[in-house]
Amino acid sequence: AVEGPKSLLDGLDPEQRAAASSDDGPLLIIAGPGTGKTRTLTHRIAHLVTERGVPPEECLAITFTRRAAGEMAERLAALAPGHADRLTVATFHSLGVRILREHHEAVGLTRSFGIADPDRQLEVAVSVAGAEKEARRLVAEGDEQYKKALRAQDLVDFDDLIALPLSLLERDPALVAAYRERYRRISVDEYQDVDEQQYRLLRLLAPADGNLTAIGDPDQAIYRFRGADVGFFLRFREDFPGARVVQLTRNYRSSPQVVAGALQVISPSTLVPGRELRAMGEHGDALIGVHHAASEQAEAAFVARTVEQVLGGASFHAFDSGRVSASEGTQGLGFSDFAVLYRTDRQSRALVDALTQSGLPFQKRSHDRLVDRPGVSRIVRELGFASGDSVAARVRAVAGADHTAYELLKPLAVECGSDFERFHTTLALGVEVDTWDPRADRISLLTLHASKGLEFPVVFIVGCEDGLLPLRWPGAAEDDDVAEERRLMFVGMTRAQRHLFLSHTAGRPRSPFLETLQEFTRIGNAQPKRKKRGTQLSLL
Ligand code: ATP
Ligand code: MG
Repeated sequence: AVEGPKSLLDGLDPEQRAAASSDDGPLLIIAGPGTGKTRTLTHRIAHLVTERGVPPEECLAITFTRRAAGEMAERLAALAPGHADRLTVATFHSLGVRILREHHEAVGLTRSFGIADPDRQLEVAVSVAGAEKEARRLVAEGDEQYKKALRAQDLVDFDDLIALPLSLLERDPALVAAYRERYRRISVDEYQDVDEQQYRLLRLLAPADGNLTAIGDPDQAIYRFRGADVGFFLRFREDFPGARVVQLTRNYRSSPQVVAGALQVISPSTLVPGRELRAMGEHGDALIGVHHAASEQAEAAFVARTVEQVLGGASFHAFDSGRVSASEGTQGLGFSDFAVLYRTDRQSRALVDALTQSGLPFQKRSHDRLVDRPGVSRIVRELGFASGDSVAARVRAVAGADHTAYELLKPLAVECGSDFERFHTTLALGVEVDTWDPRADRISLLTLHASKGLEFPVVFIVGCEDGLLPLRWPGAAEDDDVAEERRLMFVGMTRAQRHLFLSHTAGRPRSPFLETLQEFTRIGNAQPKRKKRGTQLSLL
C-alpha cells in the first residue's frame, strides 16, 4: 500500500525508504553527514500520519534548537498538509515548559509561572546571599535556598525546565503512563547529543518496546562540554532491546573529494568503524584546497580573494556538468553559497575586516540571547516579564507610554509568533536571537558548532592550527577532548557541497587533524598554481 505512485516514500532512496517505513518499535538510524537523516525523519512522520492513519496528536518530534524545530515544522507542514498543526515538534526545553504548564501545582507553581533570565536569576540569588559573587555561586550550583526563593516568586530557571519535569515524572508512574499514552511515537534528531537528564526524560516517555526513533551520527557528537554523552547513542540497543538498526550510506550533499577527505580526517577516532559513506554527486573538479598564510590578516585576505575569484568564474569550469550545480543553476554561485567556519568567535574579527574592506556582503551567525541585548534587557525589566502574569497588559501599557519600546517589541514579538504569552516564554527561555538568514545573499560567518546541520557549496575552515583545532584550554583533559575537536572538524568539513578550503597561519603549528588528509591541493600565496590533471585553478 505504501508503494503507491504518490507515496511520500517515493522521494527517498531504498535505505531511507526502509528507515521511513520501518514497522513499530524502537528504531535507531545511524548515518553519516548529508545522508538525509533529517529528511528521512520528516518523511517518516509525514508517512505515518498521511498514509498509515496514525493520529498526528500521538507524534512528538524532538530537536535541539528552536531553528531546527521551526524548520522541521515547516517541512512537515509541506509534506503533511492538514495534519501538521496537530503534530508536536519541540525542543527538549519547550517540551519541559509544556509539561510544567500542565502540572504546575505539583511543583508549587501557578500555571503562568515565569522563566527567570540571567539578570533575574542573579537578583533572586542576591536576595538570598547578599554579595554578588556568592550569589553567582548559588545560581551555578542550583542551590536549594536560591531555588526556594525562585519558587516563592513563581519562577523557574532554564535548568529547571528539564530537571523539574524529570523529577515530577520520576515520582509519579501514573503521570508517566499518561504521557506515554499521549505521545505514542517519539522521534529525536541528533540523538548523539543528548545529555543525561534529556536521556532520562526520554526513557520515561518512551517504554523499552515503544515507538522511539532515534537518529544521529556518533561522529558528529560535539556537545560534550555541555554535558552531552554519545554513550547514550552507543547503548541504544541495550536500552531498547529488539531495536531495529538502519544505516544510511549515500551522501547527497558533498563532492566525492569532500567525502573522502572528511573520512580521512575522522578516521583516527571514528566511533563508527568501517562506516560506509558514498558520495552521490559528481563534481568533476571539486577540490579540497589547503592554504598557508603568513598571518591571520593574510588568511582573511585569502578568503576574500578566493570568494571573488570563485564568483568571477575564473576557475571551476567543470562545475557545469556537476549534478548539484546543474540542479541549482549552472550560472555561477552567489554570496550565500559561501560559509567561513572558525573554532572561536574571536577569529571572526579579521574576517569581518577583510570582507568589509573588499566590499563583500556577509552575515555573522551570533548566539546572543534576546535578554542579553541591552535594549531588550531594559524593556524586559520595565515590563517585569519574569513574573509572567498579564504580560499583554504590560506590553500595552509600555507601548502607550514609550513609543520606542513599542517599536522594539514589535519585531521581537513577530519573531516569536504574535501572541504575547508565547513571546513571553520565548523571551524568558533565553532564546538566541538568530538573525542569520539562510536565504540572504551574503557570505555566512559561523562557528563550527553553529554550522551543524547546514550545507554550503563552498566552505572555508580557517585557523586549522594546533591550539585552535584542536582548541587547547586550561584543564583540557587531552584524549577525549581532542577526539571531540576532531569530530568538530569533521562536522565542519562535511558542510561543504563542492569545495572546501582549509587554511592555517604561521602563528601556530599546523593542525594535527590535517595529517591524515591525503588528497588535497596546496594553494600557494603568490604564484598561480595549477591543480594536477590540468584543471585550471587560477585562484592565486
Ligand atoms: P547532517 O548530518 O549534516 O545533519 P543529514 O543526514 O541530516 O545531514 P539532510 O540535511 O537531511 O542530511 O540531507 C542532506 C542533503 O541531501 C539535503 O540537501 C537533502 O535535500 C539531500 N538529500 C537527502 N536525501 C536525498 C535523496 N534521496 N535524493 C536527493 N537528495 C537528497
Ligand atoms: Mg541533519
